[in-house]
Formats: sequence, C-alpha cells, structure tokens
Amino acid sequence: MGAAFTLRGVVIGAKNHRDQDAIISILTPNQGVVSAMVPGAKKHSSRLASMATPPILADLVLTDSKGFYYLKEGEAVESFRGLYSSFEALTCASHILEVVRDTAIDPESGSALYPLILYVLYDLSSHPEKYRQIVAAFEWRVMDALGFAFDLSECDCENPDSMPTRAFSYTMCRLYCSKPGCVSKAKDYRYISLGCVEALKYIRSAPLERLSAFHAEKYVLDDLCAVTHRYLCERLEKSYDKMLILDTLPPV
Ligand SMILES: [Zn+2]
Repeated sequence: MGAAFTLRGVVIGAKNHRDQDAIISILTPNQGVVSAMVPGAKKHSSRLASMATPPILADLVLTDSKGFYYLKEGEAVESFRGLYSSFEALTCASHILEVVRDTAIDPESGSALYPLILYVLYDLSSHPEKYRQIVAAFEWRVMDALGFAFDLSECDCENPDSMPTRAFSYTMCRLYCSKPGCVSKAKDYRYISLGCVEALKYIRSAPLERLSAFHAEKYVLDDLCAVTHRYLCERLEKSYDKMLILDTLPPV
C-alpha cells in the first residue's frame, strides 16, 4: 500500500462490487472525479458504509495500491439529512447526482460543478418543499457551467410585440417574440411567461447561496421547470427521467 492522503469531496455515486464492497465516485474541488474502493461497505458492521451512501460531503483518507484507491477512513462534513424527510427532495437529489456524474468528466468541469452541487444539495436538504425551483435553478446553472448558455436577450427584431410571453426556442437557444415573422424563426419552441424570463435571468446571475431565493407563481414555475429540464436533456442528449415519478404524485 502507498502512503495515505486526505481528500475532501462529495460522494456522488456508489456501485456494489463483489459481495460486500463498493466503488464510490468522489467529486473533488479541483481533481475532477476520483474513484475509490470501500472494502466491506455492504457489511452491517461497516463503519465506512455511510461513505458509500451518496450524497455526502466528507473528508476521506485514501491509500493508493497499484494505481487504485482504497478508502481507509471517512468523516462526514455534511450528510444532507433533510433529503431523507422528503420523497420529492430525495428523487431530485438522485437526478442532480446523475447529471453531475455524466458531466463532471474532467477537472475543469468538475471544478465548475463542485460549488454548484454543494449549494444545491444543501438547499434541497434545508428546504425540501422548494424542490421544483431548486432543480430548475440547478439545471439552468449547469448549462451555463458547461458552456451551453442560452441567450436571454430580447427578440432580435428590435420591436418586440407587447404580448406577456416569449417563445423559448430549443432550436436556436434564444428568445423570440410572437410576431409571425419572429416566431417562425424559433422552430421548436415553447411559449413562456415574462415572469419565467425574469426567473431565468435571476438564476443566471444569482450568487449560489441565493439561487432558489426567488418567488414564482405556479404558472411561472410550470414554465420554468418545463424549459430547464427539456433544454438540459436536449443539450446533453439524454432523457433524464428520474423525476417523472413525481408527476404521478397528487398535487401538494
Ligand atoms: Zn420579434
């Protein structure tokens, strides 16, 4: 075994390995995602089992053996306990982790996503009832962090109509007003309220600790969740469907 070293990171995934072990994925502030074996993680008596239960922010002691890391010790810094009080929040956390596992593919993207996922998981754990706007804010900021920023400037006709809506174009990644000559350029689009446009602008520029600190009426939130989710799925070319189950729940 090589020398032990300490690492702080968020455990974003865990896979069973053989009968009793697990391999965890740790998102770090500047080394991207690091994988490590957690021996005996599945044993009832394991003191390391909680380190293989994502999400958790922890200080981890790893050793290197033939180029593979083994977890020796782990101390939780934040275990996001509030997530476990809400089926909705836990489902959203699982969606967020999936997106981060797919997109933190190098140290650069990992560094961009690290503070975002920490704030978002903490927010979700503290305010599980705000899960819809927290997920929408996460999805929108992930797009910015990964270089898929949508253009929120006004319709390019210079004289937009006075309708209280804009066409959110998935094809052109920008907004259009509803004049026939403009909306025809939008191709594949959804009409969203001006309140939704304002929310998208707010999320883009808000400090991370204020990301979900906006008030939105239900119709605004419906637009917001619809466009951020579909925009994310289209840009990342994957159908993220973990949250579909929430649509089957009775309204709160
Ligand atoms: Zn226009």
